[in-house]
Amino acid sequence: MVSMIFNDPSSAAAFHRLSFTRFSNGLVSLRRFVGPLHVFSNTPTLPRALSLHAPRSSRFITASMAAEPSAKVIDGKSVAKQIREEISAEVTKLKEAIGVVPGLAVILVGDRKDSATYVRNKKKACESVGINSFEVNLPDDASEQEVLKYISDFNGDPSVHGILVQLPLPSHMNEQNILNAVTIEKDVDGFHPLNIGHLAMRGREPLFVPCTPKGCIELLHRYGVDIKGKRAVVIGRSNIVGMPAALLLQREDATVTIVHSRTKNPEEITRQADIIISAVGQPNMVRGSWIKPGAVIIDVGINPVEDATSPRGYRLVGDVCYDEACKIAAAVTPVPGGVGPMTIAMLLSNTVSSAKRAYNFN
Ligand code: NAP
Repeated sequence: MVSMIFNDPSSAAAFHRLSFTRFSNGLVSLRRFVGPLHVFSNTPTLPRALSLHAPRSSRFITASMAAEPSAKVIDGKSVAKQIREEISAEVTKLKEAIGVVPGLAVILVGDRKDSATYVRNKKKACESVGINSFEVNLPDDASEQEVLKYISDFNGDPSVHGILVQLPLPSHMNEQNILNAVTIEKDVDGFHPLNIGHLAMRGREPLFVPCTPKGCIELLHRYGVDIKGKRAVVIGRSNIVGMPAALLLQREDATVTIVHSRTKNPEEITRQADIIISAVGQPNMVRGSWIKPGAVIIDVGINPVEDATSPRGYRLVGDVCYDEACKIAAAVTPVPGGVGPMTIAMLLSNTVSSAKRAYNFN
């Protein structure tokens, strides 16, 4: 078993520590030890609206029955770039109008190289759009009280509009206590139970929505995908992706089904979906036969698989078998270059929204 560390593909507070797992079919995958994780709005310069109507022959179609690839590629990388440009313009506007520069504080405990890299990337992303970043580095043996003290200071600091605790925390710390200590007004990860609770309730508005699911919905919006009244299947029910993604789709008036590891007939259920969001962590699990012709697919999964032809010895694939999906779906996100780049863009967006809210600036 080889242990490898990958980029923080997900988001601000997310980290992914991966190690290879060998399957009986000879495929080698990397299994993740996931910590929590972590997203914005509209100006579709992108493709025209996608039709979600399936051809008559939709039932039981298989990849081999389909012909040439025809799906549109949902280009998360270029959408994220566009969003960053919009954020940068907003930051300038905020500064010029009221002299406020949005600030994001990141607390890093311990000396994990992967975590340090993620924090560095977030700092760079902040700099690229003009957001101030504040970084606290504590040693591995720091106490929970010390971390709570920094959170408390940042909670009260008017120059900080978002607080992010890089995960994982050392095992002697209670992650829940620490994440709950972040005031909901600065919870740019959107993981605070109150923010999630408001997301789940009709008539309530969360202050922040978790970044990765928010990025998924943003992609659907920017590609003009009609969500209202559509059947959506979310595969995966984690607190950080699957569950909030399902809540967001429901808020957009989709009829939502969640598929998880105990679902008895995932293929049959998924095949009914006009929109699929997959956040599982299993390479190529969603085959062509799972997909209704004309469906739109957002693949959140990031799964390294061994690849001797790659200089790194591995490559990243999604949960969805991309080649098969391309022949059946109307549109699909690639991995990499789909949901991944959206997550950090949404973190920046949440930070700017927080600063605007703090000063009642529209
Ligand atoms: P997670 O916490 O491990 O949750 C995985 C979910 O998938 C669970 O709900 C699990 O069901 C379900 N599942 C596992 N095996 C399944 C199967 N065979 N059939 C159906 N459902 C199954 O993972 P996560 O944090 O949500 O992340 C999921 C994937 O998204 C990973 O590949 C991760 O790297 C990626 N990710 C990407 C981004 C990004 O920015 N692109 C951000 C976050 C995560 P149970 O609940 O029943 O166990």
